[in-house]
Amino acid sequence: MIIVLKRHASETDIATVSDLVCTLRYQPRIIRGVEQTVIACIGDELSNRSLEVLRNLSAVESVFPVQKKFKLVSREYHPSDSVVNVKGTLIGGGNIQVIAGPCAIESYDQFRTSVTDLTRCGVKIIRAMPFKPRTSPYDFQGLKLDGVKIMRDIKTEFDVAMISEVPGPAQIEILRDVTDMFQIGARNAQNYDLLEHLAHAGKPVLLKRGMASTIEEWLTAAEYLVVNGCPQVVLCERGLRSFDKATRNLLDIGAVAVARQLSHLPVMVDPSHAAGTCSLVPALARAGLAAGADGLIVEAHPDPVNAYSDAAQQIESSKFGGFMKELEPWIALAHDLRKHEAT
Ligand code: PEP
Ligand code: MN
Repeated sequence: MIIVLKRHASETDIATVSDLVCTLRYQPRIIRGVEQTVIACIGDELSNRSLEVLRNLSAVESVFPVQKKFKLVSREYHPSDSVVNVKGTLIGGGNIQVIAGPCAIESYDQFRTSVTDLTRCGVKIIRAMPFKPRTSPYDFQGLKLDGVKIMRDIKTEFDVAMISEVPGPAQIEILRDVTDMFQIGARNAQNYDLLEHLAHAGKPVLLKRGMASTIEEWLTAAEYLVVNGCPQVVLCERGLRSFDKATRNLLDIGAVAVARQLSHLPVMVDPSHAAGTCSLVPALARAGLAAGADGLIVEAHPDPVNAYSDAAQQIESSKFGGFMKELEPWIALAHDLRKHEAT
């Protein structure tokens, strides 16, 4: 159940409503927006007492039940598209972005060349990954703190936003002042403790879908972020584990359309981790945009053959302009789709 308070409800109003919510055996979660406060009521709507009585309180604007497990991320709660702001660059609500960068930061020169090449092509948000949670402990784990230092150095030279994967709660503080957006990777997609901690960091989050997560589990993971105070969430479809190894992961194009139908959060597609090989990346990127994605996150490296991780799927950063040029009609299509939806 969601309670929307009237604009400019006072602290006393909020306390009164919250107390009543507790009396009715729900746990209130107060979410303070710029203009309006919302109270998400956590509890079983079948066995707990009805919250309908709250409708009569003078501070309450509306009360509505949401039967789904995810509530604040649902379209019922917020019918129009959300827009996520990453250091002034917007994603969602008709703003289509292509995020790009290497799989991992490997050295100052490798990262600097990547950023130079990609910003020249108009990329406004760079993948900056000093931490690499890998399936095997013997694989390259990222430069860690040395990578964070490289990020800091590059930021003094380039005015560009950066997104970094956060592998665990311990890295939130390490990354907080240097990154502009956190990424939750597929392997952490249902790490609820991490999601709760991250929600308090005050930064936008790109939430990858787990490699075997249902769409409901994905959206419910996003709910963990929003209900704990992080409204700036972007969903990212990156392909599922499947029986067929022809692609690295099975890009679930249908999930892009479903997620946009069920949720107001922007949805991005990662064609690189789905494809596994760079020759397939353009086709999956086009498919993502045609299915309604609000943008893409793509891996690009100055020298993919010698990359420390995901060598086969990274586009050569000096050729990224060509990739972007080929995508132009599809980005235009994505803009048209949004305009069409708005009418
Ligand atoms: C990544 O984007 O760097 C990554 C590891 O992707 P995923 O979590 O989707 O495997
Ligand atoms: Mn990668």
